[in-house]
This record gives sequence, C-alpha cells and structure tokens, in this order.
Amino acid sequence: MKGRMSVVSTGPGDQGNLTPRVREELTESEVIAGYGTYLDQIAAFLEGKEVISTGMRDEVGRCEAALKRARAGKRVCLVSGGDAGVYGLAGLMLELMTPEECIDLLVLPGVTSATACAALLGAPLIHDFAVISLSDLLTGTELIEKRLLLAAEGDFVTVLYNPRSTKRRRLLEKAAELFLEVRSPQTPVGLVRNAYREEQRVEVILLEELKANTWVDMRTTVVIGNSRTFTSGGRMITPRGYRTGTDR
Ligand code: SAH
Repeated sequence: MKGRMSVVSTGPGDQGNLTPRVREELTESEVIAGYGTYLDQIAAFLEGKEVISTGMRDEVGRCEAALKRARAGKRVCLVSGGDAGVYGLAGLMLELMTPEECIDLLVLPGVTSATACAALLGAPLIHDFAVISLSDLLTGTELIEKRLLLAAEGDFVTVLYNPRSTKRRRLLEKAAELFLEVRSPQTPVGLVRNAYREEQRVEVILLEELKANTWVDMRTTVVIGNSRTFTSGGRMITPRGYRTGTDR
C-alpha cells in the first residue's frame, strides 16, 4: 500500500474555521500527528486513530515519526495550526521527504492568524502588508530588526506573529521603537489574543502605547496600521482608495 502524507492546516482554533477539505482528510486518515494544543482542537477526529503527540519544540521528531508511518503505507495527517504553510510544519515535512519518496503528498491550506485576526479587528489588511515573526529561535535578531525597519519604511501594514514570549520581551519594544521612528504615534495597532478561542481578547490601541503594553504574548497577533489606517467605531480600517479614487 502506498502511504499518504497530508499536512493539514487547522486554522485559529475553532471548528468554524476548519475547512471542509481538512475535515475530510482528518476523517479519512489512520494516523494523526501533532502538538498537544492543536490535537485538543481537533479532538473529535482522533477517536479510533493512532495519535502521535510530541512537545512543542520537537518539530523534527514529530515530522519524522509521522513520515515513518506514511512510509509504512499508512494514511497520515500532520496537523499544524493556522495555515501549515505560514510558519508551520509544511516546510519541514517537505525538507525531510526525499525527491524519490513513494508517498502521496498533500498540503491543505487553512485560515492563518493574519487574516483571522484582521477580520476581528475590522479591515486592516486592505492594502499591502508584511508579516514578520519576532521569534528569534531560528532567525537572528539583526535580521528581524532589519525587516521591521524596512516594513515600517515601506509603509506596509505589518502583522507580527510570535510577538512576545516570557523569555523574549525586548523585541516587541524594539519593534514599537522602530515603527515610531517613521510612523505617527497615533497609528492604530490591533491586538488579538486567542482569536476564535475561549478568552478571546480584541483591542485597538495607538502605536505610542504598544511599548508599554503588558498582555501581548505568544497567543497574540499584532497588526500595526500603515500611515492611512484609521479607526471607526472601534474598528480598524485601512483605506484602499475606492472612495477617493487614490491612496496617494
Ligand atoms: N501557522 C500559524 C502561525 C504559527 S506561529 C498561522 O498560520 O497562523 C504562532 C503565532 O501565530 C503565535 O505566536 C501568534 O502570534 C499567532 N497565533 C496563532 N493562533 C492564534 C490565535 N488563535 N489568536 C491570535 N494569534 C494566534
């Protein structure tokens, strides 16, 4: 039997944002591999399946164990939160697979945090935007800061993933400082914690307030507006120019 490896995206965490295609794939799989929290989100699909669960940092171990099952002819789903192709496990899995691998490979898309959180904030991503992860585990601080500065200078709406961990607090402050160098202190900044999960928190603050914020953490996505972004009725809006005919 030829095995099948499906890297599936589970979205922000609720059932409603799990695509029908991913549901189908999970239902038909024999083995499901993932990190504990993501598996909890799809608990309904685990019954009767072989489950491979590893710690958060053991991405390589998880992918290798999943791949081993697919190589043995099993139908395997590797689950990854949000979109598996955005800071997710799709890349690592494809790197581990050899070109002559005799396994069917499938990568299924999902709702990523940027768009999931943007929808809760209003419409902040209507113009060009950049997505930057502040995680310095696999990327050097210097490169992260360079990308932040260039996104700020390019007037991109900027989405920050992995904004602040208990160990790494300084980089978010640095991001606030870099953006303040080129953007108005009054620029709206959207903060969304635990989107579509229990304890969801959505707030729009000003860029000048970002540095002192205390609750942004690893379950939060930060959306920094561009020079045109404004708020109306608590919602964040980036105009594209439909009404004025220009955004110049
Ligand atoms: N592949 C995922 C991102 C993984 S990086 C995706 O496409 O969304 C992990 C980061 O995603 C977190 O640090 C946080 O910034 C963001 N994130 C994931 N789930 C979230 C949620 N429910 N609410 C807000 N941000 C979330």
